[in-house]
Amino acid sequence: SHATDESDQIVLQAGGPAIKVEQSEKFEFQTEVSRLMHLIINSLYKSREIFLRELISNASDALDKIRFLSLTDSAAYDTNPYLNVSIVADKATRTLTITDSGVGMSRKQLKENLGTIAKSGTSEFLSAIEKDKDKVSQIGQFGVGFYSVFLVADRVTVASKCNDDPVQHVWISEAVSDFTIAEDPRGNTLGRGTQITLHIKEDALEFLEEATLKELISKYSEFINFPIYLWATRT
Ligand code: ADP
Ligand code: MG
Repeated sequence: SHATDESDQIVLQAGGPAIKVEQSEKFEFQTEVSRLMHLIINSLYKSREIFLRELISNASDALDKIRFLSLTDSAAYDTNPYLNVSIVADKATRTLTITDSGVGMSRKQLKENLGTIAKSGTSEFLSAIEKDKDKVSQIGQFGVGFYSVFLVADRVTVASKCNDDPVQHVWISEAVSDFTIAEDPRGNTLGRGTQITLHIKEDALEFLEEATLKELISKYSEFINFPIYLWATRT
C-alpha cells in the first residue's frame, strides 16, 4: 500500500452536515480485497441481510475484547463505561449507523484490518462465490465478513477510537480501489468504540425500515451478550 497526502480533498458526509476532512491519507486496498468489494457491490445476491449479522458479530467481538482487557486493567472501561451496540436508521440521510463501545481501532489497525493486510480467506471466498452465488452468506467463515457491508451500501465510513490512540480516526470508502483515513474532524465523539455508517443503496432501502431491522436484530442477536438498541425514523 502507498500513502499520499491528499489534504483538503475529502468531504465526510455521514448522516450529518458535510465536514471537510484534512490531513487525510489514501491507501490502496490489497488486490484480492479490491476484487472482492467490486464483486460484492456489483452483483445481485439473495441473502444481502447477512451484512447485519457480520456487523453485530464484529461489535460483539470488540465488546468481548474490552471486557477481557478490563480484567487486568480496571481503568480500561473509563473511556466509555456502557457496553452496548446501537443501531440507528435514518431515512432522511439514507444511512444506517451501527455503534459499539468495544475496544475500537487505532489508525494503524483501521488501515491493516480494513483493507491492506491480506487474509488467506479472501481468495478462497472469491472462488467460492464465483462458483456459487449462494455462498455469499458464508462470508464470515472466510474471515472477511466486514466487506459484506457493500451488499447494501455504496459508501461506508468507520469512525473508531481505542484506548491506545489519543485520536479518533475515520476510514472512508466508496468501494473503489482505494480508501482514506483521516483524523475525525468531529473530534473524539465515541470515547471508545467504533461507529460504522452505511450509505444505503437505492435498491436496499428496506434495510432502513424499523420492522425489517427489528426482525433481523432479533434473528442475529440470539447469542450476543450485550444490549442492542434500535432507533428508526418512521417516515
Ligand atoms: P473477522 O471478524 O473474521 O476477523 P471481519 O472482516 O469481520 O473479519 O473484520 C476484520 C477485522 O476488523 C476484525 O478482526 C477486527 O480486528 C476489525 N473490526 C471489524 N469491526 C470492528 C469493530 N466493530 N470494532 C473493532 N474492530 C473491528
Ligand atoms: Mg467478523
